[in-house]
Order: sequence, then C-alpha cells, then structure tokens
Amino acid sequence: MLSKEMIKLGTARSVIREIAAYGAQRAQIVGPENVLDFSLGNPSVPAPKEVQEAIKDIVDSKEPKEYHGYTASNGAPGTRKAIADNLNKRYGTNYTGDNVFMTCGAAASFNIVMKSIIANPGDEVIVMAPYFPEYKPWIEAHGGKMVLIPAPEDFQIDLAGVEAAITNKTRGIIVNTPNNPSGVVYTKENLVKLSEILDKKSKEIGEPIYMVTDEPYRELVYTDAEVPHMPNLYKDTIVCYSWSKSLSLPGERIGYVLVPTECADFEELYPAIGGAARILGYVCAPHLFQQVVERCIDVEPDLDAYIKNRDLLYNGLVEMGYNVAKPEGAFYMFVQAPNKDATEFCKLLQKEDVLCVPGDGFGCSDYLRISYCVDTEKVEKALPAFKKAMEACK
Ligand code: PLP
Repeated sequence: MLSKEMIKLGTARSVIREIAAYGAQRAQIVGPENVLDFSLGNPSVPAPKEVQEAIKDIVDSKEPKEYHGYTASNGAPGTRKAIADNLNKRYGTNYTGDNVFMTCGAAASFNIVMKSIIANPGDEVIVMAPYFPEYKPWIEAHGGKMVLIPAPEDFQIDLAGVEAAITNKTRGIIVNTPNNPSGVVYTKENLVKLSEILDKKSKEIGEPIYMVTDEPYRELVYTDAEVPHMPNLYKDTIVCYSWSKSLSLPGERIGYVLVPTECADFEELYPAIGGAARILGYVCAPHLFQQVVERCIDVEPDLDAYIKNRDLLYNGLVEMGYNVAKPEGAFYMFVQAPNKDATEFCKLLQKEDVLCVPGDGFGCSDYLRISYCVDTEKVEKALPAFKKAMEACK
C-alpha cells in the first residue's frame, strides 16, 4: 500500500510543466528558435563569471573531501558567518552564523519553516494572491491549511482582507516580494501596516504569527523600489532565501533560512528548523555551493537583459491596450486576458507558438503569466502574436 496523498501529488497535472513539455515537442517540429516559450522561471542570464571562477578555484586548490564531504547539518560555519556579515552590512542588523541555517534552495527553506511552525493539524497559513502555486502543497504537506486572500486590483496587499482572515489558528503569513507571478514589489508603507496588524493580532490571540518571507527574487529589482529587510519591521519574521535566481543557480539547490534572535521562541525555533531539516533530508546543503556562495556573497546579478525585456514587453503590451501589472522586480509579467479568460487566451497565443501560463493556479483566472527570462529576440518575435491575439478578442 502506498500513500494516496503522495500519488495524487506526483501525478497531479502541472500546467507549467505541460506547457514547457509541449514547447519542447513543438521545437522539434518548427525549430527551437520559433517556439516562444514564456512558461518557466529558469534564469536566461548565465551565472556571473565569479561563480565559475570560484568553482574552478575551489576544485583546483582543495582536496575533494574539503568540498565534497559533509558539513555540519546547518552548514559550514564560514559560510553562515559570511551570510550574517553581509546581511549586517546591508541592513544594519546584528546576526551571527547561529541565526543562519543553510538549505537546498527556497523550496527546502519553505518546507522546513512550515514543518516547524505548523504545530497542529489545521493550523492556518495565510497566502496572498497572486501567489506561487507550490505554496498550497507545501503548507498542506505539513498538516497546515492555506488561507487564501484574493488579489486586490493593484496586486499589493489587501490589509483589511488579511486582518479579517486571522484566527486563533493562524501560525504564519507568507510574503513574497518581488512577487511571482506579478513582479510587483510591495510598498514599504503596506509592509509596515501589515506588520502592525500582525503585531496587534498576535497579542490578541496570544501566539506569535510568523511572517515567512520567501525571497528568491530579492536582488532582482529594476527600479528604486525598496525591498525592506522584514525582520527590521516585524520581529517575528523568518526569512527563506535562495540563490536560484539571483546568481542563476536553480539546479544547484542552495539557500538558507534566517531566524533572527529577536524572533519569538528563538531558543526553540532554531532547533525546530534543524529538526525539520533533519527529517525532510535537507541537512548539509550542497557543500561545494556553500563555498561558492560564500566567495560570491557580494556579487550582484546582471539585470540588464531582464530590464531590456521588461521594458520591451511592458511598453509593447500597454501600447496594444493590454492591462498589465507593471513589474518592478522578478522576471514575470502578469497580464489580464482581454477576453477575461486566460486559459482560452493562452490557447490563442499557442496557435502562434507563444507559450504563457494561465493564472488560475496563481489565484487569478483572468490573468496570464509571462516569464520574460528569455532571449530578447524571443520577446521581439512574440509581440506581433500578442497583437494578433488581442485583435481576435475585439
Ligand atoms: N518561491 C518562489 C516564489 C519561486 O518562484 C520559486 C521558484 O521559482 C521558489 C520559491 C523555489 O525556489 P528554489 O529553486 O530556490 O527552490
């Protein structure tokens, strides 16, 4: 007998994967240059040269066991210290390596945190639409219940909606800014107000409500929009970080969980993170890449290509009459389907070999997500198809 729940998850349809598989199939027929696939969030900008240099240098100068061997469960002390020092320099904090737990990317960080803060079956975690679809199974896997706040028109934060959704079972709220799928950066003003609500409600229910920030896109910001370091605004914040997008290393599975000492129940929370990592098998994050990120801690991503694509796409679509949430970060654009039915509209685009993801899974069925981490040429080639599809809806 097998776990029915896991079979269901493993066989569940993933619209994004299906579209990407269709794209690969279609590429064999019409040629890869003619398939304009905007479905996946796989960074198109290569990892910075410092990453390759670090890998070569580590491999050339060290014994294999010094980079292939196990580290401590929570990661190498030098790596954790480098991360703490970097955060302290950027955000005026006082972290040490003992606030950092190295993990295998944001997915691992998120699951570890959910496993730690969901104390009883049915405990609630608030998610604000539009949202990354994996949140639901990641919360439910640990006995939690996802409480979804519908998206406000500007894709910022529905503060009243959040406040109304908090119950005495609320254990946490997920904050993902810059956001996947909208690219929107939450304003500092909204984040301050959100913190005030959480503070007030935590006192009312007599339990901490943890803010869990999911930060794979923190460094991908294209305007002067500020992405506050949330522990500075709300003490009960747990940060889930990853280098998948900032250093273009999604296949290397490297990230961390940051638990500030000021966080409620820190003395138990950090060990709980360790316990969750242990049973989920995320201890000792990839050693070679712990050393790589340590050496590259100050390296900033090259944003030029993403900015170019964003501007080209945003200006082009707005000129055609599309309603688009203007992205300030990440590499996604969330566009309203002119016929208000994104599934049907994506089919129209697909006829032109332009592949986008309908927004149902992100909590907004009339929107589609365009992942613009692709070659600029593909954006240029896709614009006429967007025009044709728009005209077909008139
Ligand atoms: N969270 C969000 C919002 C994402 O978009 C992704 C990946 O696309 C992840 C988490 C998972 O990131 P990682 O590859 O670091 O596990």
